[in-house]
Formats: sequence, C-alpha cells, structure tokens
Amino acid sequence: MFDNLSGKLDKAFKNLKGQGQISEINVATTVKEIRRALIDADVNFKVAKNVTDTIKEKALGQDVLTAVSPGQLLTKIVSDELTLLMGGSKEDINLKGEPNIILISGLQGSGKTTFTGKLANHLKSQRNILLVACDIYRPAAIDQLKVLGEQIGVDVYAEPENKDALKIAKNAIKYAKENNKKTIIVDTAGRLAVDEQMMQEIESLKKNLNPAETLFVVDAMTGQDAVNTAKTFNERLNFDGVVLTKMDGDTRGGAALSIRTVVDKPIKFISHGEKMEALDIFHPERMASRILGMGDVVSLVEKAQQNFDEEEAKRIQKKIRKNNFGFDDFLSQLEQIKKMGNLKDLMGMIPGVGKAIKDVDIDDDSLKPIEAIIKSMTINERENPDVINGSRKKRIANGSGTSIQEVNQLLKQFDQMRKMMKTMNKMGGAKRMMSGMN
Ligand code: GDP
Repeated sequence: MFDNLSGKLDKAFKNLKGQGQISEINVATTVKEIRRALIDADVNFKVAKNVTDTIKEKALGQDVLTAVSPGQLLTKIVSDELTLLMGGSKEDINLKGEPNIILISGLQGSGKTTFTGKLANHLKSQRNILLVACDIYRPAAIDQLKVLGEQIGVDVYAEPENKDALKIAKNAIKYAKENNKKTIIVDTAGRLAVDEQMMQEIESLKKNLNPAETLFVVDAMTGQDAVNTAKTFNERLNFDGVVLTKMDGDTRGGAALSIRTVVDKPIKFISHGEKMEALDIFHPERMASRILGMGDVVSLVEKAQQNFDEEEAKRIQKKIRKNNFGFDDFLSQLEQIKKMGNLKDLMGMIPGVGKAIKDVDIDDDSLKPIEAIIKSMTINERENPDVINGSRKKRIANGSGTSIQEVNQLLKQFDQMRKMMKTMNKMGGAKRMMSGMN
C-alpha cells in the first residue's frame, strides 16, 4: 500500500540532503515535488494544493536546529500535515443503544458484506452480536453473510423470502431484544453505481432504525471515484464514518488522503484482505508514518498482542528453556504469524523495510514449502531433527514436493535457530527475551 507515494516523497526529501537550512529556494522545489507526488497518488487537486501550501509556510517559519537536518524537519512537518489531513486522531464507532444498531452502506462490490463480518468478528469479544442480512436483491449476499457468521461464530438473522428491507430489520431488532443481543449490524443492498431506488431504501432504513452508527464502505482502489461516491452518499445519509476496503491492493492512497477533507467525516476502519482478521482501526498518525515509509511499529505490536495466544507462548517459552524446541513448535509459530494477516503488509510496518520489499513478492504462499516439508516429517523427526539422514531427506523432499536442497536449507536454518536458543539459555537471556513477548 502507498509504495509509489512513499517512494516519491522520499525522492522529494532527497533534494534537501546536504542543505544546511531550509530556504525559500530549496523548499519551493521540494514542496512542488511533494504536491506532484500527492496528485499522482490520486489525491484531490485542491486538497494537495492546500496541504502543500501549509507545509511550505510551516517549513519556512522553522529555525533549523543543528541536531536535525532540513530533510528530517520537513519529513516531520509533512507527517504532521498528512495526519491532520486524515483527521488528526482516531475516532471510535458509537456503541450506544439497546440494542445498539450499526448500519452498513455502500456500493455493490465495495466489500460491505465482508466488512460486516469483520466488524462482528472485531466486536464479538465485548458484545453479543447479531448480523442482519438486508441485501434483498442478491440472494448470494444472504448466503455469504451466513457463511461468514458461521465462520466467526456470530448469529445471522435473515428472511430470504421477504423483500422489504425495513421489515426484516425491524423483525431483527425484535429478535435481538428477545435473545439478549447487544449490537446488531445491518448489511444492506448496494448497486454497481449510485441509483435513486437504492438511496431511498438506505435513507429509509436510516430514518426508521435510527442507528447509533452509519458506516459508508468504499473500495480504496477506486481513488477519486471513491471520494465522489462518498460525497453523494453523505449528502443523502449524513453517515458517521468511512470504511476503506482493499487497502492491501494497489491503491495509490488518494482516497485515504482526500476523503476526510472532502466529506468531513472520519475514516474509522481500513480493511486489507479477505480474511476476517484483516481489519484495522484507522489511526491517522500511524497511516502518515506508513505513507512516509517511517514504518508503523505500534500497529505491528498491537497485532501481535491481539493474535498471539498467551498459553501457546508460555508453552513454547518452556520448551525453549528446556532446549527441546521442535519442528512442531516451529509450525505452530508460523500459524500464529499467518493469523496476523498478509506477510508483506506486516513487514511493511517495520521501519525501513517497506521500501526495501516493495518489489519483492511475499505472500502467505511463501511459507507453504516450509509447512509441507515439516508436515512430511515423522513425529520423531520433528522432535529430533538430528535423525534426518540422506534417505530420510529424500523421502521428505518427495513427500512435500520440494527438493533436497530446500529440505537441507530448512534443516540448517532450524539448527542455527536451536543453537542460538541454547546459547541464550546459557546466558539466561531467553527468559528475559521471551517474557518481553508476553
Ligand atoms: P459487497 O457487494 O459490498 O457486499 O462486497 P463483498 O463483501 O461481497 O466484497 C466484494 C469482493 O471484494 C469479494 O470478493 C471480497 O472477498 C473482496 N474484498 C472485500 N474486502 C476486501 C479487502 O479488504 N481486500 C481484498 N483484497 N478483497 C476484499
């Protein structure tokens, strides 16, 4: 995400390298390049102009301290302005009301139904949730929601024969009250483009249900179109927040950067994949950091905390201490990493890594050969890799559809890892290091 934009901004800052201070001349060139980078990223022209004017003004007013270079100083100013552009600070959704009602709107294909499932998954540990299928025109949408509900263990209310969305929603509220549901999330019908019937329907749902939160879901890959659709929906619905989806795709970032200014409504969530866990609360300052290639360590740590199973971490910690960390434990660690989401996105959150891996193909599939090799080992081999001799290697390579070289490579890496763990145990450092992980 944002690879192009961060690359271009980085280049713009390079202009200032070696310059002792920020002057009218050097800042003018850099700011012009920043503006061009933003416009290339599909940021609304007016928004790009306003923000770069402010950046220039602020940069010129700054005394450059000896400790920071003009490039660093400007990066900070740009980061602050991008943060402000995206709303300044995060805004939570409103969970008031009994039951609390959340209405989901947006065009067909924007990722509404998927997001409805993700939001339920996100909230289910704190609220008893009911999903409501009000996409009356697309029977497949009802099935899709039911499948998602089953997957995440959340009830779904649907009336496949009923063609009156408002009636379905009202019946769902009644059902929710009778069944002690605290939050109901209503998935509605979308169309391929804005049309009057759809608008009237969603308007009527909003007026009659009086939801505490109305969210507008939009595909970030559609750039300026996303901003225009948001404007149209907002004029009719006066929604409370925006959800940007498909941020894992090749989005140039324009929607994230312009939507707040154009509709004056906060982005509340970003969705970055098809898995139910691929959802993040939107933090403007963290996003600005990522755009500028400064990494987003806070989100990375939070993801680890959400997805790492504490019991499992303790079990592994014990095995490391006893020097019997085996391939099965390694496999379980890989599973935990995969649960955190797209590998490339995760690595992109590490400062400096985003740029380095932008052209490298990394996805969950890159772990597949490793998993296949481990799964082709016997239990004894997984616990005692030392027994794996030449003929066993051949068998494992055949069984996993890999080569002996690949098996050798994994064995070698694993051996190095175990040696490192042993050394740390000797130094008494493993305990300290691992306890830092919990
Ligand atoms: P709806 O018509 O608005 O309900 O959209 P869906 O939820 O059915 O999503 C349309 C398509 O986009 C489906 O194939 C989803 O799997 C996919 N999708 C939804 N959200 C994301 C996302 O964040 N990233 C990616 N890559 N695909 C997504």
